[in-house]
Amino acid sequence: MIPLSEALKTTSLHLQKLKKAGISSLADLFYFFPRAYKDLSRFVPVNELRADQECVLKGRIISLLNLPSRSGKGIFKGVFADATGRLDLIWFNQPRLRTLLRSGDSVMISGRAQFNYGKLSMANPNFELMNESEKIHAGRIIPIYSEVNGLKSKWLRGKIFTALRFLSYFPETLPDSVLQSNDLLVKAESLRQIHFPDSFEQLGAAQKRIGFEELFNLQLQVLRNKREWRLAAEKKGMKIKIERDLLKELTDQLPFELTMAQKRAVVEILNDLKKSYPMMRLLEGDVGSGKTVIAALAAFNTIRNGYQTALMAPTEVLAKQHFRNLLQLLSPLGVRVDFLSGSLSPKEKERIIIGLKTHGIDLVIGTHSLIQEKVSFANLGLAIIDEQHRFGVKQRDILAGYGTPHVLSLTATPIPRSLAMTIYGDQDLSVIDELPPGRKEIITRIVPENKRLDAYRWLENSVQKGSQAYVICPLISESETVQTKSALAEYEKLRKIFPSLKIAVLHGKMKASEKDAVMNAFSQGEYGILVSTTVIEVGIDVPNANTIFIEGAERFGLAQLHQLRGRVGRGLRQSYCFLFPSGNALEFPTENTRLRSMVKHASGFKLAEIDLEFRGPGEVYGVRQSGIPDLKMAKITDLELIDAARKAAESVLVE
Ligand code: ADP
Ligand code: MG
Repeated sequence: MIPLSEALKTTSLHLQKLKKAGISSLADLFYFFPRAYKDLSRFVPVNELRADQECVLKGRIISLLNLPSRSGKGIFKGVFADATGRLDLIWFNQPRLRTLLRSGDSVMISGRAQFNYGKLSMANPNFELMNESEKIHAGRIIPIYSEVNGLKSKWLRGKIFTALRFLSYFPETLPDSVLQSNDLLVKAESLRQIHFPDSFEQLGAAQKRIGFEELFNLQLQVLRNKREWRLAAEKKGMKIKIERDLLKELTDQLPFELTMAQKRAVVEILNDLKKSYPMMRLLEGDVGSGKTVIAALAAFNTIRNGYQTALMAPTEVLAKQHFRNLLQLLSPLGVRVDFLSGSLSPKEKERIIIGLKTHGIDLVIGTHSLIQEKVSFANLGLAIIDEQHRFGVKQRDILAGYGTPHVLSLTATPIPRSLAMTIYGDQDLSVIDELPPGRKEIITRIVPENKRLDAYRWLENSVQKGSQAYVICPLISESETVQTKSALAEYEKLRKIFPSLKIAVLHGKMKASEKDAVMNAFSQGEYGILVSTTVIEVGIDVPNANTIFIEGAERFGLAQLHQLRGRVGRGLRQSYCFLFPSGNALEFPTENTRLRSMVKHASGFKLAEIDLEFRGPGEVYGVRQSGIPDLKMAKITDLELIDAARKAAESVLVE
């Protein structure tokens, strides 16, 4: 490939400026894409010229005068003419014009005309000589580049135009079969069209091609990783038989029948566990769709095969809840269940650690501690990661150090399938697309300040009849101390308002044992109202709680509101979510839209779509944590293109 210095014929200072911005080869330059385009392809005849409109004209300079000016740099006055009329031109501070332009030259000019003394004229127009055969800065759709260390768009445009002569040296990178079956432009032509499009249609085709290639390469990488990893782990996988009779024993004990979607997911998981390479599966299902019981079944089957299982949850409160439930469900069947978190005493920790090492424990449930403490397992067969998106790291990294257990991750983030396969490409995906039967849509309302007392009266009445409710305090700051203060204040306030109700408070500053006691008592129905910070945001499951009040609701993001709301609507009774905006929050369009979306939509998928507009895919789908590189052209939300690229990558790998 020709070095940039030769291709561009420019000063070393300019080359250095480019280099500083990461452009040190021709390829880098071609991949420095325009940030926008301007359509200067239509010529306007002088007699159709209007004031204040950016336009391009084609004609001749019929006179050009250099007049002295106060700045000393001179003023140029010119007259431009085409077949339909004449236009006065004036340039300030452009002494070089003397050498660039002469009376009689054929030119294209572009700029905005303005009325001056009742007559249209144009100040500082851009111009280009027509006898240059190439149209660069006008007479076409022109690219606009971001400035590079002081190098202006126009300079870059000229240089890139020159450099495009060497495009033919640029090799095609996609296989012929892929180009053909996806109807894609060849590489060199797409790069040319991206910089100097013949039409917006061609530009679109070029952008598609470059975006496709990015996604194709990404998918290829992902698929190769998966294959390599499987090969490497092939012999290390623990083959876990499906114990149908034992599983039936467990499902018979459940107070409900599994939904079709749950059954499907269980089958997919159990089939994975049989294989000789470790499972990597993501189980995706909206809040309340019943993911926990699936995890329990997988754990039970694993344990009955003589292997251990670890279940990791992002908060202590949630881990404790899982512990309580699974202890109750599985210990009567002879499973030895235990709990590990950072808040245990050193002695307790020691006991658990020994239990895991000697296989005195079959199922351990815990927090991050499971990977932070010096835990080693006698024979870990399955690792389950609940609310996987909360961990913000790649799972394989989380689990490095535990050999090659099967891994099951649970998430409520509604990632479209093709995107999930890209971001979490090494995992297979199971989706629970239905809620357990009989669930009623949660009635969601925004409560303005003047209706607050009505809401309180309603709540009092409903709790007196045996319902339970959460009151979530506003998200004041990242600081737990501030958050806690507000929870305590809210608690004191509500105790005065509802002297006859039993109210508890839960916040991050409480000791683990206190939190546990409060949650436990609340789930036993001992309290009517639980005032809480967001420590209960994920996973908490108290089916009898059917009302949630969210204070300062506008401060929460959509995903968070949906998660919070998901704490109710878990039983058969009608549930309610009341959103209390603070102050004049509803007057702000974003906040207003967010809260109204909550009222309007129940589905996490729908809300995620709306959320995408607010926050972008990086946040909503966890693309950022997933470690995939930034894409220059493709949009990570362009599912159609992702799908096509995926298929192409698969077809190439099979060959
Ligand atoms: P999530 O998917 O949000 O983790 P959970 O596993 O906490 O949901 O389940 C929510 C509630 O639904 C729990 O109380 C659970 O016992 C109940 N549940 C799960 N599956 C079913 C089912 N098939 N029928 C009825 N209730 C179910
Ligand atoms: Mg859950």
